[in-house]
Amino acid sequence: MLKLALAGNPNCGKTTLFNALTGSTAYVGNWPGVTVEKREGKYKKAGQPINVVDLPGIYSLSPYSPEEVVSRNYLLDEKPDVIVNILDATNLERNLYLTTQILETDRPVVIALNMMDEVERRGDKIDAAELSRRLGVPVTEISALRGKGIHELMKVAQEAAKKPRAAFSVLQEGELAPAVEAARKLLETHGTDNPLFHAIKLLEGDELEVKNHPDEAGELEEIRKRCQNETFGDDFEALTADARYKYITQNLASVQHKAERKEKLTRSDKIDKVLTSRIWGIPIFVAMMFLIFHLTFAEDFLYLNTFYGVSVQGWETWWEPGSYMIDGGIPSPGVLLQSCLIWCTDSLSALAASGLANAPAWVSSLICDGVLAGVFSVLSFLPQIALLFLFLSILEDSGYMARVAFIMDRIFRKFGLSGKSFLPLLMGFGCSVPAIMASRTLEHDKERQMTIYMTPWFSCTAKMPIYTAIAAAVFVGNDDLVVFGMYMLGMVCAILGALLLRNTVFRGQTAPFIMELPAYHLPQAKSLFVHLWDKVKKYVVRAATIIAASTIVLWFVSNFDWSYHMVGSIEDSIIHDIGSLVAWIFYPLGFAHGAYGWVFVVAAITGLIAKEEVVSTLTVLGIAVGKLAEDAAEATAIETLFTVSGISSPAVIAFMAFNLLAIPCFAAVGAARAELGKGRGFKGALLWWTASAYVVSMLIYLIGSYWWTVFIFAALAAAATALIVLWNKGKIKLPARGKKAAQEGGDKKAS
Ligand code: GDP
Ligand code: MG
Repeated sequence: MLKLALAGNPNCGKTTLFNALTGSTAYVGNWPGVTVEKREGKYKKAGQPINVVDLPGIYSLSPYSPEEVVSRNYLLDEKPDVIVNILDATNLERNLYLTTQILETDRPVVIALNMMDEVERRGDKIDAAELSRRLGVPVTEISALRGKGIHELMKVAQEAAKKPRAAFSVLQEGELAPAVEAARKLLETHGTDNPLFHAIKLLEGDELEVKNHPDEAGELEEIRKRCQNETFGDDFEALTADARYKYITQNLASVQHKAERKEKLTRSDKIDKVLTSRIWGIPIFVAMMFLIFHLTFAEDFLYLNTFYGVSVQGWETWWEPGSYMIDGGIPSPGVLLQSCLIWCTDSLSALAASGLANAPAWVSSLICDGVLAGVFSVLSFLPQIALLFLFLSILEDSGYMARVAFIMDRIFRKFGLSGKSFLPLLMGFGCSVPAIMASRTLEHDKERQMTIYMTPWFSCTAKMPIYTAIAAAVFVGNDDLVVFGMYMLGMVCAILGALLLRNTVFRGQTAPFIMELPAYHLPQAKSLFVHLWDKVKKYVVRAATIIAASTIVLWFVSNFDWSYHMVGSIEDSIIHDIGSLVAWIFYPLGFAHGAYGWVFVVAAITGLIAKEEVVSTLTVLGIAVGKLAEDAAEATAIETLFTVSGISSPAVIAFMAFNLLAIPCFAAVGAARAELGKGRGFKGALLWWTASAYVVSMLIYLIGSYWWTVFIFAALAAAATALIVLWNKGKIKLPARGKKAAQEGGDKKAS
């Protein structure tokens, strides 16, 4: 099958094109790091299917970060039949830099000028035929976003794949030409594959290349030394970069004709003046996030009840799902949708219960109180998750989130992270697994490690039901504020955590942050819904598989005793014993106290497997506990649980904080292990998550319960800060410090 590789700079539209060609639903984002692995799909509209590979974005074929290595190795080692080099045509000259390197390989190449819709909107013109003539490869114009020209592109690519192409380098003209030619000849006599490409990379002193061809590198040293100029001395890498850019401006730039701009600022620039302003940038972001949470979670959407005491009641008399809404306010769209879904699932549960009326007691208990209750409790958050995700996708697709990264860079820099790490972190709001993988774009190991440590604290969609369910049960009327607050708590902890690590174990510099700010554009409804559907599907599948399976286990251990007899009261069950056995560990966090404290302990522990488990655990155990309580008729299982356990508000918040900060879930731990290796970095991550969850929850509980403890903790924090500051200034020395300092000095030299 024909193998076609999509290569280009980050953000030039590779993934958009890949999705359009293969009908797949890969994540399209506005920043580097979204595609960190290559991804394959099939294009079926040609005579025979074509294998299309989407590669991570790269600026050059001399890689610096791990995901750039993926792209380069693919292009060189896998030998695709044709490389489609995608260029962001609104940024032609910069994008052509990579093209000059791709042309140095001996693969057939087709150039696709993407974003032609934007070029045309600006009134600019590009002479594709002329560009094709000058580079000696076909050039086509497309708009991946609007799906224009993509089938023509595939036809051209198919044709190109049939003809071999000789490698070509712009460096074969100009002052470096003799050196390049000599090096190429030398490699040719060695029988090296693709001699021109390797010759140039070896001259550039590319690390990977020198490692792979040490002998040749030595021989080329002579040739290299002969090339010098005044500006760059004998830094061959700088010499070639300069030569490439010169070639582009002198020989290629003239293919584009930019329209006269009447006004200097484009529409995007004008919007950016406000949205990325130093003063307004962050308040606007916070306000926007609050609005999103308000739309998704508020029970009293218009604040009629809160501020004006107007009470809206009696929904249920004319609309049944209304009985699931809190009396008093007009709910937000998210809550409204959720009420409808709960009404549906409750009707289904009732139906199942009446259908099983004659079945043995354990069967109906297993199905109704176990599986259905657990799965439905997780499913009931689907509307809110979908809505939240939709809003975030709109912000992202429109190009706003890229601006947020830019704004955040200014703050993050102070804490030793760059805007580049904010991007994976932001993906964490969706799911920690791809977010942890996206950290691969970070060049410095320490920064990457730290980013992975912080990622789970950008609360993922699976944690949201925990806050929502608990807020609805305990903090009626302030639901949205509590949920919003938990998200903020996660981010604040991430920032403080970064600050702490940066000044202790992860000292070093931060990489500069450069990124494209794409022009704002209206999000495409189709791509929004494709992603939404993908997300919804994953959530439902998880609920129907691992959540359903684990509720069965949970139902069993909460309804049977150690001799496998069904118990009348949960207090005789297996899970009660297990929970009580470990509950003491959690005493300082507040939620393990009391007769039912062990239930929360069990929920927190099952949450380490998957966060959806927390709500399903609370529900299944809540039902069992509710059977003991007398006046539990009207309340949901979780409400009953909180009422009978008599848990205090600080302990409730400590419980939520523990779930927010502790080990995210098995899948995320797996991803972290893949990124960090088995060694200290990974063990450090587990320790970091566990320890900080414990400490932060304890602080919340203790300060919330005994306000005066705040002075003790403040004093401790001040003392610790002072010690760290003194240590960093070298005023105090730890015994091991000498060795470490030497290592760090070495690090700095190497980088
Ligand atoms: P990648 O990093 O190369 O994979 O780029 P993406 O496919 O993630 O796209 C980056 C951004 O460019 C997204 O916001 C896309 O919506 C946008 N984009 C992609 N193709 C086009 C296009 O043809 N026209 C316009 N106006 N925007 C596009
Ligand atoms: Mg991509």
